[in-house]
Amino acid sequence: MYSHATKDTGFSNLADRLGNQAVRNDATKGTGAHEPVDRPKGRALPSDATNRATASPTAISNHTSRSNTTPGEAASTSTTRLGALAEKLAREHTLADDEYRALISGRTPELAKRLAELARVAREPIYGTRVFTRGLIEISNICKNDCLYCGIRRSNHNVKRYRLEPETIVACAREGHELGFRTIVLQGGEDGFYTDEVLAGIVEQIAAACPDSAITLSMGERSRTSYKRLFDAGATRYLLRHETATPQHYEQLHPANMRWERRMQCLRDLREIGYQVGAGFMVGSPYQTIDHLVAEMRFIERFKPEMCGIGPFIPHHDTPFAHEPAGTLELTLYLLSMIRLIHPHVLLPATTALGTIDPRGREKGMLAGANVVMPNLSPIAVRKNYELYDNKICMGEESAICRGCLARRMASVGHELVVDRGDFR
Ligand code: SF4
Repeated sequence: MYSHATKDTGFSNLADRLGNQAVRNDATKGTGAHEPVDRPKGRALPSDATNRATASPTAISNHTSRSNTTPGEAASTSTTRLGALAEKLAREHTLADDEYRALISGRTPELAKRLAELARVAREPIYGTRVFTRGLIEISNICKNDCLYCGIRRSNHNVKRYRLEPETIVACAREGHELGFRTIVLQGGEDGFYTDEVLAGIVEQIAAACPDSAITLSMGERSRTSYKRLFDAGATRYLLRHETATPQHYEQLHPANMRWERRMQCLRDLREIGYQVGAGFMVGSPYQTIDHLVAEMRFIERFKPEMCGIGPFIPHHDTPFAHEPAGTLELTLYLLSMIRLIHPHVLLPATTALGTIDPRGREKGMLAGANVVMPNLSPIAVRKNYELYDNKICMGEESAICRGCLARRMASVGHELVVDRGDFR
């Protein structure tokens, strides 16, 4: 069952604290200690992206010591010390900032293996090797926003836009239920068509058709009143990636009209209303530094989201970040293990993006401590139009085939795909 035990874990002041963290980071500007080399100042613009492609300000995934350690620091940090930090994280679920920094920047394949073992041990008494499925229905690729990393951003005029009718959405949910899905996720851009009345109506119909299923919404930022209305209609979970725990980094990934403080307020509203809340961020997103990742770990520690979706950043060819390097499988898996150790109860997806950058990315995600997969239930005809990033997988498989494929994939690494709501425990 969803527990409110962590509800008030200091989140009321989280924005301030993270803001202060960011200020502390900014205070080091000019020292070179906390910023990528050649990092351009100010908000990213389309023309910046091309320049940054060669400057490569963001490739922490590929250059582990790039941002916050001197070249020799990682090498000189003993394996024994880092191993001890991994054990400490498993035991205490927290580290000091410099310890987080050392553990991330000093990572090695051996350390990753040890962290993954510890993550599986932490997961075992809570979820075992059971893998929960979420049937994802991408209900609209129309969005009023212009997030710089997103393939369906408003400014991308090469996207063929679509919007599913309420009856189509309910039919997809019914089909998913028949196939064994006990969580339905409705995800879409911030599309004004889905007013509270329309969306609440869809939620009510799905709740009536699939009474033993959980309904999750992932429909972006809405008012507290709207969230409450949808909760009362029967939605009990909400996914809203925070994208980055550092306000300045948020500004570099979003246009000026989108505010980090607003995103945090939405997360607070959702939590207070009673939703199981899913947050998350991209690994290796443009401008991301090791200090940003330390802030992510701290955010998870304090907010304790019931779900945390992290996946590698994958550039989309029609965005300002088209030429940015993708995040890596290796760092994503490493962070999955760390997150499991920080918050053993978290529901942790092995994302489709992870399966996109590596054919066995989702299986490897399970071995790193994940326990959720989110196959696509959208009508095949529209799936290719919901391309948030390039080369997204599973665009053409029938839902039943997809579920069977995933079950085999999970079994191949000793995990079991189950028919279960997969509630937070
Ligand atoms: S990330 Fe979400 S809110 Fe941003 S442009 Fe894409 S669909 Fe819209």
